[in-house]
Amino acid sequence: MCGVSVRPRSAAAALVCLCLVLAACLAPRRAEAVGRNLRGELKRVLVLHSFGREFRPWSEYARDIKAELERQSPWPLDIQEHALLTARFNNPGPEAPFVEYLQSLYQGATPDIVLSIGAPAARFAQRYRATLFPDTPLILSAVERRLIDRADLGENDVVVAIHNDFVAAFENVLQVLPDTRSVAIIIGASPLEKFWVEEVKRELKPFAGRLEFVWYSDLSFDDILKRASTLPLHTALFWGLMSVDAAGVVHESDLALRSLHAVANAPIFSYQEPFFGDGTVGGPMQLIKDTSSRTVSAAVGILGGAKPGSINFETIGFAAPRYDWRELQRWGISESRLPPGSEILFREPNIWERYRWQILMIAAVFLVQAGLISGLLHERRRRRFAEIESRQRIAELAHANRYSAVGELTTSIAHELNQPLGSILTNAETAELLLRAASPDIKEVQQILADIRRDDQRASEVIRRLRSVLKKTPFEVKDIELNDTVREAIGLVQAVADGRRITLIYMAAATALPVRGDPIQLQQVVLNLIINAMDAIFDADSGKREVSVSTLRAGKDAEIRVVDTGPGMDVSDLANVFNPFFTTKPQGMGMGLAIVKTIIEAHHGSISAANQLAGGALFTIRLPIAR
Ligand code: ADP
Repeated sequence: MCGVSVRPRSAAAALVCLCLVLAACLAPRRAEAVGRNLRGELKRVLVLHSFGREFRPWSEYARDIKAELERQSPWPLDIQEHALLTARFNNPGPEAPFVEYLQSLYQGATPDIVLSIGAPAARFAQRYRATLFPDTPLILSAVERRLIDRADLGENDVVVAIHNDFVAAFENVLQVLPDTRSVAIIIGASPLEKFWVEEVKRELKPFAGRLEFVWYSDLSFDDILKRASTLPLHTALFWGLMSVDAAGVVHESDLALRSLHAVANAPIFSYQEPFFGDGTVGGPMQLIKDTSSRTVSAAVGILGGAKPGSINFETIGFAAPRYDWRELQRWGISESRLPPGSEILFREPNIWERYRWQILMIAAVFLVQAGLISGLLHERRRRRFAEIESRQRIAELAHANRYSAVGELTTSIAHELNQPLGSILTNAETAELLLRAASPDIKEVQQILADIRRDDQRASEVIRRLRSVLKKTPFEVKDIELNDTVREAIGLVQAVADGRRITLIYMAAATALPVRGDPIQLQQVVLNLIINAMDAIFDADSGKREVSVSTLRAGKDAEIRVVDTGPGMDVSDLANVFNPFFTTKPQGMGMGLAIVKTIIEAHHGSISAANQLAGGALFTIRLPIAR
C-alpha cells in the first residue's frame, strides 16, 4: 500500500495513489460478484476504512466483521472496500476528488448497505452521505462515542459505539505496577490523534500528583524509540495510536508497536485488543468480537429488511482484563496483582507441559535401565555367592583329593620318617656306648647329638608339610611366590620319587614369580601332576625315569611345566583328561586333573596337556603375574 512509511508530497499525489490501489482491489471483486449474482440475490456491501485497509486497530475490526458477515449472510455478498488515506495526513487534503470518484463509481448501482469502520470513516460517511448514498442504510462501527456527530444521525443509521475509558486504563497500570511514577504516552500527530491527546489529557486530570505524564506527540517516531530505550525506573509506556508522527511520517501501527517493543526498557500498556499479543502487557480492553458481533447482526438484519432506526446498541465498554503472560514475566508482575476475573493469555507451556512425552519416555528408559542394572547387580551378587560356594566345594573336594594323594604317598612318607627316626635311634645307642667309656670322647658325643637334632628336624619337617597339606582350609587368596610354593610341593613327593627310583628335577625360574593364589591348593596342583607323571613312569618297565618340574616367566604370566618320561597320553584321550571321572587306571578315580583344572581356573589361569615329541606327557599351567 502507498501509505506505508512514505511522506506524500501532496494530497493530489496521494489521491492518485489511492485510485490506483482501489482499481486493483475492485477488479477481482467485480468478477466475483458477477459469479455470485448468478446464484442468488446479491447483496452489495460498501466498507469504508479509516486510514487504510491494513491499519490497526481498525483493520482487525474490519477483518472480523467481513469474515463474520460472510459466514452469517444467507445471500451472496459483494463486499467493496475503500480507504480514507487522506485522514492520515497532518494537513488533510481536499476530499472532493475522492467523493466524486465514489459518486461516479456507484451512480445507478448504490450499495445495499454502507459500513464505516473507525472514527475518520464514520465522519466521512456522515458528511457525504447526502451526496453519495442518501437512502442507503449506514452502520457506523467501531467509533468512539465522543466522535459521533449525533446531530447528523437519521432513521437510516445504526451506531455501534465504543467507549475508551482512559481512567480505567491508567488505574490498571497502577494496579499491576503500583510503583509507577511516570507514564510516557504515545499518540501520533494526525488530526484524530491530536483530538485524542487533548481528550486523554482532560480525562487524566484525577491522576495529577499520583502520576507524571510525558507526551510524545510532538516527537518523530525515531526520537520516541530513542527515548523509550532509556526510560528511568518506574516508568510505563502507554500506546494510544501512531498513524502519523510529528515529523509527518506515516506508520502502520502494528509495525511501529513492534519496533517500540523491541527497544523499550519499560512495559507498554494499551486498551486495544488488536495490539494485545504484540508486546502490550494488557488490562481492561476493547474486544473486537464485542463490536463485530453487533455490527454483523445489524447488517444482516438490515439486509433482511429490518429498519435501521429500530436497531439500538448500548455503547461498548472495556471487557474483563486480559494479560499477556510473557509480558508479566518480563516485567516481574506477579499474578496476584491482577484484578479478580483477569484472563492470562499466551502462557508458555513449562518444560513438563512442552516435553511431557519426551520426559515420560526418558523416565521410562531410566526406570527400565535402573531395573536392568539392579537385576544385573542381583545376578552379579548371585554369581559371586555361587562362585564362593563353588570355591568352597573345590576346597572341600581338593581336601578329599589331598587325602587320597597322601594315602598314595603313605609308604614313602613312612620311609621318609623312618630314615631320620632310625638314624636317631642308632645315634642315641652309639652315644650311650661312648658315654659308658672311662673317658668318653665328648667331641664325638657332641657330634652325635648334633646329628640327632638334625634328624629330628627332618622328621618334624616331614610332619609339618603333611599337616599343612592335609589342613582343611577355605579357599584363601594371598600374595605368594610361585617358585617357593612349587618347591614346597616337590619336597612332599621327593621321598616317593626316591622310593620309586624316579629322578625328580626342579628348575626354578631365575626371576621371582609373584602370583595371587591359595598356596595349599596350588601345591596340590603340582602334587597331582607329579603323582600322575610318576604313575605313568612307574607303569613303564624300562627307559629313563625322570619327572622334571620347571617354572618360568612367560610374558604377563607365570608358567609351571611338568614333564615326564612316561608313555604320554593316547591322542584320543587328550581332549578328555580334564573331564571328571576320566581315568585309564584300574584303581583310578579320574578326579585328579578335573580338580587341578578347577583350581587353576579359580586362579584365573589355564592348563593344557600335550605329548612331547620325544615321548612323555607335558602339562603346562599359566597363572597371571600379580601386579
Ligand atoms: P586318575 O589319576 O585317578 O586316573 P586323573 O584325573 O589324575 O585321574 O588322570 C586322568 C587320566 O589322565 C589318567 O587316568 C591318565 O590316563 C591320564 N594322565 C594323567 N597324567 C598323565 C601322564 N603324566 N602321562 C600319561 N597319562 C596321564
